[in-house]
Amino acid sequence: MRLMFTEVHLRKPRSTTLIVLLASVWLAVAGNLALWQTLHQLPDIVGFEGFVFSVALALIIASAITTVLSLFAWRWTLKPVISILLLLAAFASYYMLMYGIVVDTPMVINVFQTDVREARDQLSWQLLFCVFALALLPMVWLWPQALIRATWRQQLLRNLALCVGGVVVMFGTTQLVFQDFSSLMRNYTDLRYKFNPLNSVYAVLDLTVIPSEAPSGPLQPLGLDAQITARTGALPQRPPLLVMVVGETARSQNFSLNGYARTTNPLLAKENLASFTQVSACGTSTAASLPCMFSHLGREAFNARTQNFENLLDVLQRAGYAVLWIDNQSGCKDQCARIPSINTSALKVPEHCENGECRDTVMLTQIEEALAKQPAERRARGTVVVMHQMGSHGPAYFKRTPDAFKKFTPECTDTSLSQCDRQQIVNAYDNTIVFTDHFLSQVIVWLKRQEKTATPAMLYVSDHGESLGEKNIYLHGMPYSLAPPEQTQVPLITWLSPEFEQLSRVSTRCLQNQRDKPLSHDHLFHSVLGLMAVKTTAYQRELDFFAPCEGR
Ligand SMILES: [Zn+2]
Repeated sequence: MRLMFTEVHLRKPRSTTLIVLLASVWLAVAGNLALWQTLHQLPDIVGFEGFVFSVALALIIASAITTVLSLFAWRWTLKPVISILLLLAAFASYYMLMYGIVVDTPMVINVFQTDVREARDQLSWQLLFCVFALALLPMVWLWPQALIRATWRQQLLRNLALCVGGVVVMFGTTQLVFQDFSSLMRNYTDLRYKFNPLNSVYAVLDLTVIPSEAPSGPLQPLGLDAQITARTGALPQRPPLLVMVVGETARSQNFSLNGYARTTNPLLAKENLASFTQVSACGTSTAASLPCMFSHLGREAFNARTQNFENLLDVLQRAGYAVLWIDNQSGCKDQCARIPSINTSALKVPEHCENGECRDTVMLTQIEEALAKQPAERRARGTVVVMHQMGSHGPAYFKRTPDAFKKFTPECTDTSLSQCDRQQIVNAYDNTIVFTDHFLSQVIVWLKRQEKTATPAMLYVSDHGESLGEKNIYLHGMPYSLAPPEQTQVPLITWLSPEFEQLSRVSTRCLQNQRDKPLSHDHLFHSVLGLMAVKTTAYQRELDFFAPCEGR
C-alpha cells in the first residue's frame, strides 16, 4: 500500500502539451548557445532593442520546434523524438561553438561518412560535457515522467491545438520583428544554418524525405570511344607512369611554393616543377569535392546533374591504361568502384604506422607489389596511380606528423582547437604541410627510380582547403557560396620527368609561366586525359591546362 502511494506520488502525470512546451524552450534557449553568441557579436544587435529582438527570435525558434513536436506528441513517440532533438542540438552546438561551423546538408553527409578513426580524433572532454549538459541531463528528467493518459481522439485534438498555436505564435512574432528579421537574414546568410536543432532536422529531411533532383537511374558510361593516341617522332619507348596524388585539407596559401612566408616546402622547392597559385576546389569537403574532381562535368554542371556518369579513371581504363587507386584515408567515395584499389590506412608497416594510423609514405611501400598485379598488356601501354592522402586532416593536425617533421612549435595537441592559441594551431597545421612536402618529394624520388622502365610524372592537387581560425572559423565544409578562400583555394603541383616532357611535348618551364592563371578542379578531368594522350569526345581541349604548353 505504502509502495503504491509513493509510486503514484513520484509519477504525477504530466500533459504532453507541457512536455512539448518545456522541451521547445530548452532547445530554443540552451540548444542555441552558439546562435546567441553569434548574435551577441553582431553590430546590428545592441542594447535593449537587441535584447527584445533576441527574445523574439528565441520565441520564433521555440514555436517552430513546438510545431514540429506537435506532430510527434503521442504517448510512444514523444520522448524518443525529444531525445533525438536534444542529441542533435548538443552535437551541433559543440561543433558550432568550437569550430564556427554551420549545419547544412553536405555537413550531415560528412558526418555519415566519417569513419571510426576520424570520429576518435574529434572526441574530447568538451564534447562529452556539451552532450551531458545539453542532452543527457534533460533526458534524465524527461524519461521517468508519466504522461496523462488520453484517448486518441483527445490526444489528436490537443496535438492539433498545439500545432496551430505553434504556427500562430511563430508567424505572429515574425511579423512583429519582420524588418529586423529579414535584414538580418539577408546580411548574414549563414545564420539560417545556425538554428538548432531545426538545421539538423532540415538537413536530415533534405537527405531522406524531401524529393531532390539528386541524380537517379543507371550509371551513364563515359568516353566509350576513348583511345590512346599514337605519339609520333623520336620518343622514349618506355610507357608513361603518372602518379596523381589527391591531397587532403591542404590549403594553397600555406605552401611556400605559393608564397607562404614559412618554409613549408623545403624539398619540393629543389625540384623542377610547376605550382599553380590560383586553383579553386569543387567543394569544401571530401564528400563534395572528390566525385566532382574526377567528373567531366565541372562544378556547376556536376551539382545540377540529373544522372550519374562514369569518371576520369573509367575513361583512362577504357582507353587501355592500367589504373590503380591507393587509399590511405577513409575511402575513395565511390571513385575507384570499377578499378583496382587497395587501402593502406590500417596496415602495420613499421616506421610508417603507429597507433592505428599510417603515414602517407606507407603507400610507397605497397605500390610496387600492387602494380605488379596489374595486367601486363595494360602496363605496357602506361599506368595511372591515384594516391589518396591522409594529408592535413583535422582537427587533430598534430597526429598527422612524425616527430622529425615538427618544425614549427609549440603545436596545439588538443582535439578541440578552441583550447589552443591560434599560433599553436597554425604550427600544427604547417607541420602537416611540411610532411606532405616530404611525402610528395618521396613520390618523386620513387618515380625517378622507375625511369629505366617507365616515363614518369606526378600531379598533386588537394580536395579542399581549411579554415584555421580566420574570422573564428575552423575546419572546412562551409556551404560553397559562403566559404572563405581558405577553404576553397587548393595547391596544384605538376612534376614531369625530362622524358615525360619529351613524350607529352609539355614543358614545365611553360607551365611555370602560367602558374598564376586561374584554374579549378573543373580542369582536372580534361588535363589528365590530355597529358595521357587519350582521345575521346568527352575531352574538352579548352579545359586542358597542359594544352597551351604543348609543343612550347
Ligand atoms: Zn577532404
